[in-house]
Amino acid sequence: MFHAQWNHWSRAKCFQHPRFGTSTDGPKLKAEDKVTTAAATEICPLENYLVLPDQTMDARIAAARAKLGSTAVILGHHYQRDEVIRFADFTGDSYKLAKISSQSKADHIIFCGVHFMAESADVLGNDFQNVILPDLNAGCSMADMAEIGQVEDCWEQLVKLGLTDEAGEGITPITYMNSTAAIKAFCGERGGVVCTSSNAPGAFDWGFAKSPKLLFLPDQHLGRNTAFAMGVPMSDMVVWDPFLIMGGNTPDRLRKAKLILWKGHCSVHQRFLPEHVDKVRARHPGIQVVVHPECRWEVCQKADAIGSTERLIQVIEKAPRGTKFAVGTEIHLVNRLGKQFADQDKMVITLDDSGCLCTTMFRISPQHLCWALENLVDGNVVNRIKVEKDVKHWARVALNRMLDIKTGGHVPAPAAMVAAHGTLQD
Ligand code: SF4
Repeated sequence: MFHAQWNHWSRAKCFQHPRFGTSTDGPKLKAEDKVTTAAATEICPLENYLVLPDQTMDARIAAARAKLGSTAVILGHHYQRDEVIRFADFTGDSYKLAKISSQSKADHIIFCGVHFMAESADVLGNDFQNVILPDLNAGCSMADMAEIGQVEDCWEQLVKLGLTDEAGEGITPITYMNSTAAIKAFCGERGGVVCTSSNAPGAFDWGFAKSPKLLFLPDQHLGRNTAFAMGVPMSDMVVWDPFLIMGGNTPDRLRKAKLILWKGHCSVHQRFLPEHVDKVRARHPGIQVVVHPECRWEVCQKADAIGSTERLIQVIEKAPRGTKFAVGTEIHLVNRLGKQFADQDKMVITLDDSGCLCTTMFRISPQHLCWALENLVDGNVVNRIKVEKDVKHWARVALNRMLDIKTGGHVPAPAAMVAAHGTLQD
């Protein structure tokens, strides 16, 4: 009863002057400022939604989505919770979603993911498009581990050592998609590129064809796993700790290194440990262990296959009936795959029993999505992600280079998996 009253009150307030079925032509708004125009109604506050239970959101989200029609597209990352991702027009990993958003003609791109993904969508999008992140607190702990000031400081030290010039003649900087737009722009301006876990091997090939050394930001694990699979020995890799002088390295080590790995990691994937692989194999003989390359090297070395979330899904899809999988990635995707393939007698469980949750992805709730959509219907753009013009230019250069690089490369696939399903880079 209480909830029904809230629901009624909230709807009455939020739909005072509905503009259902119309597109939002006219000046585009900075949603982080929560701006309205004379044509828009008063913004309905988020607080009105947060007190409502999840199940009351479904019909409202569906109704608002229908009213917005082709003026809006909802993108959902695989790690989103079920209550949100069920409304996505497209689902995918950050690479796939970046490609989709770059091709979208919708006025509004509602990105159910984290901040750096929405930034990339804005960088790749058109000026008339609004990219909306339903909760601005949905960040990424890995992206936060490389701040632009720290990266500029690192570069200055490498220039002083004579290992590169300012423009990147000597070292190619490559950043993982999971980084701020400022870091992407830094790489773009110095002849570098962005990569994702789908195309990291291709980006490394591209970088090594240009220069003898790479600086890889911010995920040391993806960098190490990718380079090792390409045949770069561990002795040719160094880790750059931004809190130490020269990253904690001697000049000689930096001169000899082929790959400088930024000391960052994903707090979710780093939780998977080699002993989890041993335990799950003891408990389920014959189980296939498949992991994301953000996992530690020691875990990846024990796994049967390594791949981006898109690749992991493909491997499970292609496997014969009855195959058992332990998956080293975010728990929402693992649980979803478990349900999806249950009717094929495939068992899909998490590699770590405690389940690894990305708490920042989890911040996007049905209430946030409903709030963003209903305000859009009312002509209010909330939580718009807008990247500064200069940053946007160079970040776009780096992202466009990425989109030109072929997905795949030297991702290792063990003999059993290759025989059964082909390689992961198929
Ligand atoms: S899973 Fe890790 S890398 Fe991905 S958004 Fe969450 S914290 Fe960032």
